[in-house]
Amino acid sequence: MENNKHFDVVVVGTGNAALSAAVTASEKNRKVLMLEKGPEHKRGGNSYFTDGAIRFAYNDLDGIRSIVEDLSDEDNVEMPEYSVQDFHDDLMKVTQGKSNPKLADHLVSKSHETILWMKEQGVKFIMNENQFYETDGKKTFWGGLLSNKIKWNFTKFVIDRNGEVVKRFGPQDEPEKMDNLISELLNK
Ligand SMILES: Cc1cc2nc3c(=O)[nH]c(=O)nc-3n(C[C@H](O)[C@H](O)[C@H](O)COP(=O)(O)OP(=O)(O)OC[C@H]3O[C@@H](n4cnc5c(N)ncnc54)[C@H](O)[C@@H]3O)c2cc1C
Repeated sequence: MENNKHFDVVVVGTGNAALSAAVTASEKNRKVLMLEKGPEHKRGGNSYFTDGAIRFAYNDLDGIRSIVEDLSDEDNVEMPEYSVQDFHDDLMKVTQGKSNPKLADHLVSKSHETILWMKEQGVKFIMNENQFYETDGKKTFWGGLLSNKIKWNFTKFVIDRNGEVVKRFGPQDEPEKMDNLISELLNK
């Protein structure tokens, strides 16, 4: 086999899990090959479509500040504490205790450091704009969720007659914003 075709690690897929594995292997100076089943313009599986909301244990607001850099006191944000135990309890509640205990422990105990690692890779996190209520100018976020500004963080799609995605829009974009594009496609 030619030298330039030698790889230490082969990662199958190009979604978030695959990219995380590939970056981790690269960090250890391994030469990585990524294989994707889908065509180039459809690569990334579900990660292409994700809204990017992410749950992790952060303890107090300082734990959030370590992730969301531009969170200032003027933002007047309140976020209930969310410990590893809280996360674990929620996970077991929604899965009716059926989560694999070892995997559940791993997920929750490593959740904060995982998000920090993603931040180090250049993912920018923001407070989840869909998940707060406001009283007396104070924004209270609930549910322990952040969002990331990764480039595939779009949730509305305009598709053409062939079912191909023509353009993606953000979760807060009003449908009117799509009017012109839809008219254009209808006239084709
Ligand atoms: C609309 C939407 C919104 C979502 N919002 C959220 C959210 O807010 N928060 C959240 O936590 N989760 C959300 N999810 C779920 C989240 O997107 C998925 O759990 C996550 O992206 C899965 O990542 P993954 O890398 O495991 O798989 P995927 O991203 O699906 O990647 C799998 C990859 O493997 C490739 N592949 C499959 N078989 C083969 C093969 N045989 N050979 C080569 N390649 C192959 C696929 O083409 C794909 O690229 C959302 C999902 C959708 C669809």
